[in-house]
Amino acid sequence: MPDPRTTPLPDLTETRAFTPRVMRWGFGAVMTVIALITALSFWRVEVGHRALEEIISNEQVAVEMLYRMQLAARDRVFALFGAVHTNDPFERDAEIQRFYRLGGDFVAARMQLVELDRGETERALLVQQSEQVTQVGALMDLVIERLESGRRAEAENMMIDQVVPAQTRMIDTLTALLDDAIARTHKLAASAHAAQNRATALFMIGGLAGVLLTWGIFVRVSRKMGGLVTHLANTSERLHESNLDLQFQKLALDEHNIVSVADVRGNITAVNDRFCEVSQYSREELLGQNHRLLKSGQHPSAFYEDMWATISAGKVWHGEVCNRRKDGTFYWVASTILPFVGEDGLPSRYVSVRTDITAIKEAQRVLERSRDELEHLVQVRSGELTEREEVLRGITNAAQDAVMMIDHAGRVSYWNPAAEHMFGFAETEAVGRNLHDLIVPERYLERAHAGFSHFVTSGEGPAIGKTTTLRAKHRNGDEFPVDISLSSIKLRGQWSAVGIVRDASARVKTEEQLKQLATTDGLTGICNRRCFDGALAREINRSARFSSPLSIILFDVDHFKRINDTYGHQTGDQVLAQLAGAVGGTIRTTDLFARWGGEEFAVLLPGSGLNAGRLLAEKLRGVLENQPFAGVGQVTCSFGVAEYSPGDDAEALMKKVDLCMYQAKTSGRNRVEACATPVQAAAGESARR
Ligand code: GH3
Ligand code: MG
Ligand code: MG
Repeated sequence: MPDPRTTPLPDLTETRAFTPRVMRWGFGAVMTVIALITALSFWRVEVGHRALEEIISNEQVAVEMLYRMQLAARDRVFALFGAVHTNDPFERDAEIQRFYRLGGDFVAARMQLVELDRGETERALLVQQSEQVTQVGALMDLVIERLESGRRAEAENMMIDQVVPAQTRMIDTLTALLDDAIARTHKLAASAHAAQNRATALFMIGGLAGVLLTWGIFVRVSRKMGGLVTHLANTSERLHESNLDLQFQKLALDEHNIVSVADVRGNITAVNDRFCEVSQYSREELLGQNHRLLKSGQHPSAFYEDMWATISAGKVWHGEVCNRRKDGTFYWVASTILPFVGEDGLPSRYVSVRTDITAIKEAQRVLERSRDELEHLVQVRSGELTEREEVLRGITNAAQDAVMMIDHAGRVSYWNPAAEHMFGFAETEAVGRNLHDLIVPERYLERAHAGFSHFVTSGEGPAIGKTTTLRAKHRNGDEFPVDISLSSIKLRGQWSAVGIVRDASARVKTEEQLKQLATTDGLTGICNRRCFDGALAREINRSARFSSPLSIILFDVDHFKRINDTYGHQTGDQVLAQLAGAVGGTIRTTDLFARWGGEEFAVLLPGSGLNAGRLLAEKLRGVLENQPFAGVGQVTCSFGVAEYSPGDDAEALMKKVDLCMYQAKTSGRNRVEACATPVQAAAGESARR
């Protein structure tokens, strides 16, 4: 916010000066122009008017004189005619008298006309007329002379022959003069009229120019005045608002702030109610006192020195001060001291505005104590955490299992030494790379990535929260089984996964061995009874489904008891082992050879019928018969062969072949008995019983 003490007022000098200037000069100029034009127009009109008047009077006189001359000339002729034609001498005299008087009138009019300022043509006509007058006058004098001498007839003739024509010519000249005068009058009148028109036009142009100029000035002035008025209105409004603001500020200041005024020595000259309320001193107790009265002694002297140095230099000082109340307790204020600088540049008084911050200070103290305690606690906890982390690190480092962590993008973020060993990637190589690309065999990659995409959005997956055995890949390309336990963790809103991976090679191998043991006969190394039962059930199922042939051979060592008894049990075992080896080397790989129990063996022949079974049994019988057994010599066996019939189960089929074998025993041993039908077998059964 700008400092109101330094913010300049808007410069209105130009605006203020403009209006009167425009009024003075603008209107002055307009008035002058209008006055000039008007004066000029009036002058022009006046000149024209005067010229017209002069012309009118001049020409009127001229026309009148000419008219009078014409009249006098005509009447003179009439008077002369009257004198010529009358017999009465008195009347003649009277007519002659009138003749002379008219002559006088004529001359008087002419004199007046000549005196007038006439044009060139007129002057020439007047000269001509003057000659004609003289001529007519002389002729008339001659007529009068004849009359007076009594020569009337002569006078009459002279009158008709000479005077009248001469007079007519003179009157014609007068008429020409009159016409000229009239023409001149018309011409001058027309020119006067034109001058008047020009003056009117000038007057109108001047008037129009005046109006336009006035209008222009009016528009300019009104615009400027409009701006000025708006500006004044805005300023007035702002002043009003500022005034209101100031009043509110004053109210707020008095309400919440501790205000005091001090002189240059720090003696209090004014305080507000809040000051008294907070300090517990009355106004009377405070006024005239030095501000030191409130000193708490909680600040070093350098604190006050700095404050005085600042405000003495005319600068505003801000700070938090601890003061002492009348009752001796302390209170804290956030203080601003404003020096009021006089014309000499030195402070004349100081206005202090303070806010009570005792509660804030107390809260700060409590907070600081809490913060210290918290910091201590954090330190302890951090130590514990570091310790735990070290322990955890120690555990994971020492763990045989690979421990790894991947972030929401599938990148490795943790990789322990066991992982380094298990997969062949150092921690520095593994961290930041995609785990799946590192350890998942190529053919499972697509499925692994799809599963991870699902995991990232939900934190769930089929492998999460349990141990799964999967195939993994070593850096060198070797594949091996791993037991992987996965769990999900949400870190900063995103799913990460932690995996504990154990190399399952040994376990899988043991399991396979156990499985092998469970299905293998220990003595002969061939499939045991459990193994055979499983295979038999599967093959019966297959034959039932696909109607494929299936036959079985069951054989028993003849008089084995005797071998045991004669050579001992161990030799008996050797015989069994050798026998199994010999049979195993003869049958097809697709046939399943098993120790059925004691010295009984079975061969399962998928895809072979009774006849094929019988042929194989015969072959086996021959092989064994011709094979010398170490320390024993010849050993023979009795063979039963049976074929699967639809509806047979394992038990029925075994029963059938067992009966056949029994039939071979009873029929003399070292022979093969193939039971084609259940009837044959049934016959064997009854024989066995
Ligand atoms: P037969 O021609 O009627 O079959 O006469 P046999 O003597 O072979 O009679 P039997 O089949 O009833 O006797 C089987 C004997 O085989 C009984 C048992 O002591 C002996 N035997 C069974 N299992 C083993 C074995 O694993 N090792 C040895 N050495 N002898 C066994
Ligand atoms: Mg036997
Ligand atoms: Mg037996």
